[in-house]
Amino acid sequence: MLAVTPVLAGVNPQAQVPPPQDTPYPGTIAIHVDASDTAQGIFRVHESIPVQPGALTLLYPKWIPGDHSPSGPIDSLAGLALVADGKPLAWKRDPYDVYAFHVDIPAGVSRLDANFQHLSSRGGGFEMTGNMLMLEWNTLALYPAGHYSRRITFAPTIKLPDGWQFGSALETASQSGNTTTFKPVTFNTLVDSPIYAGLYFKRVELAPGAKAPVHLDVIADAPKYLDITPAQLLAHRALVAQANALFGSHHYDHYDFLLSLSDQLAGNGLEHHQSSENGVGVDYFTGWDDNVTGRDLLAHEYTHSWNGKFRRPADLWTPDFNTPMGDSLLWVYEGQTQYWGFVLTARSGMWTPQQFRDALAMVAANYDRNRPGFQWRPLEDTTNDPTAAHRAPLPYRSWQMSEEYYSGGQMMWLAVDAKIRELSHGKRSLDTFASKFFGVDNGSYVTRTYTFDDVVAALDGVAKFDWKAFLTRYVDELNPPLLGGVDASGWKLVYTDEPSEYEKQYESHDQSPRHIFNFTYSIGLTLTKDGRINDVRWNGPAFKAGVTSGATVVAVNGHEYKSDVLKDAITAAKDGKAPIELLIKNQGEYRTIPVDYHGGLQYPHLQRIAGTPDYLSQIIAARQ
Ligand SMILES: [Zn+2]
Repeated sequence: MLAVTPVLAGVNPQAQVPPPQDTPYPGTIAIHVDASDTAQGIFRVHESIPVQPGALTLLYPKWIPGDHSPSGPIDSLAGLALVADGKPLAWKRDPYDVYAFHVDIPAGVSRLDANFQHLSSRGGGFEMTGNMLMLEWNTLALYPAGHYSRRITFAPTIKLPDGWQFGSALETASQSGNTTTFKPVTFNTLVDSPIYAGLYFKRVELAPGAKAPVHLDVIADAPKYLDITPAQLLAHRALVAQANALFGSHHYDHYDFLLSLSDQLAGNGLEHHQSSENGVGVDYFTGWDDNVTGRDLLAHEYTHSWNGKFRRPADLWTPDFNTPMGDSLLWVYEGQTQYWGFVLTARSGMWTPQQFRDALAMVAANYDRNRPGFQWRPLEDTTNDPTAAHRAPLPYRSWQMSEEYYSGGQMMWLAVDAKIRELSHGKRSLDTFASKFFGVDNGSYVTRTYTFDDVVAALDGVAKFDWKAFLTRYVDELNPPLLGGVDASGWKLVYTDEPSEYEKQYESHDQSPRHIFNFTYSIGLTLTKDGRINDVRWNGPAFKAGVTSGATVVAVNGHEYKSDVLKDAITAAKDGKAPIELLIKNQGEYRTIPVDYHGGLQYPHLQRIAGTPDYLSQIIAARQ
């Protein structure tokens, strides 16, 4: 064992970074990004920063809005060179904050040049391909410490490859060849205004005639994927109309859905005030009927313009991008957005009522049988997961749980909606809350923050009730009654031996990430078509038999593994006594594991409870 070095007395383990003040940064920072080197995945950045002699600290954004965590990719920054009056200036990284760079500006110097690269070609999804790119300014900018980031002005320019077009909420000032100059914006707006660019590009109007225009900016791996049918266009326009009817307001001057259709570019879903990043598979339009799962993405990200960007939890608002965020109210920010994402997808006709119910049944089933982790941690504690778990794969998700404030929050808001409808005899609903809470200050996009008590007061203004106790039961206590909203809205969760058409898409889709076979509610595991186990339900039959996540099922009852072979074995063992024998390969060892399970295949569905009000159907009916 190595000796442990004692902490030296007298050393101050504090970063020497000036705290942000609500004062303007003098002058405008010019930032130029050369994004033309797509073959090597290199973004080349030049900044020209007005400075005064003395100490200066430059920050690389660390806490990224929408990620809710310190996820800024500082490891991708390379080649940092600072120059003043043609001479290199030495910089030193802060020993206690790897996102901060200190430099002494000599007397007589009024402008600092910073050159560096963002090396994007890393594992886990590409930001650039030969045909398209996604450009997020927080990965490309250093900004001076000591000021609120909304008080710092940037003048951005970008250079794209030949012949490319782009979509962005940034407003163009001028264009010269492949270089676009944008109107100056605050650093907050810059970080909030990504660019999706591509060789194959299409821009479609989604709110014709509206004062605040809304566009769908699509980039694709090939031109044929840009075909949008009239019915698809109508559904996307209906999404915009239904969201505006729900909130009775908007909080943008113009809005751009940035949509990449690609099997190469990183999948994405990230909200902004006047735009959103949506990265989906290449056949989003051309394989429409086979892509029902996950179709709530655009509705989710659009809802965030109201819930998250405009109205924001007080502890999630920060003066700059290097001050830690507090995630305690993400069950409003993400949970209610997840709720409206589902509902608006149905109201717009992007989902049929049956598809909506099948999708909701899968969420409900998770909270019925697949989250024993609520025995040890409440939903509120999972708001720490963006920071604690970094959205990395988890070996035992049902027990560890992860960011349950999304879908668990969604289930809670369904219960709230049903409760308001019950209390008001159908006169009011969560729609009323949405328009009162998120719909204020029509046209403004100056963020308005709120606390837990504000949420309680707003609900009380919709329907008198002990909302504090109601929310506390769901959020702060163990084993919350997350199925309550399904029952209260007139439906119940049931299981049959046949997956819904919606769930079958997870099994049948060609794209490998979605080739997931879900035996969670029967034998207690999910696995790929190749038999690799990606989750084992804690204390489920497979778990109790000793099956581990990450292992591979090689054979079932002596037959080579295929998902149908496992299905047949589970069916054959139903009501019998013989166990299901899995031959498992793990860490180079083979082992036969008998699983004692006789309940047959189990897939979730919603079934109407006769004689009760059908709130669920009312909830997803299109607003007139
Ligand atoms: Zn979200």
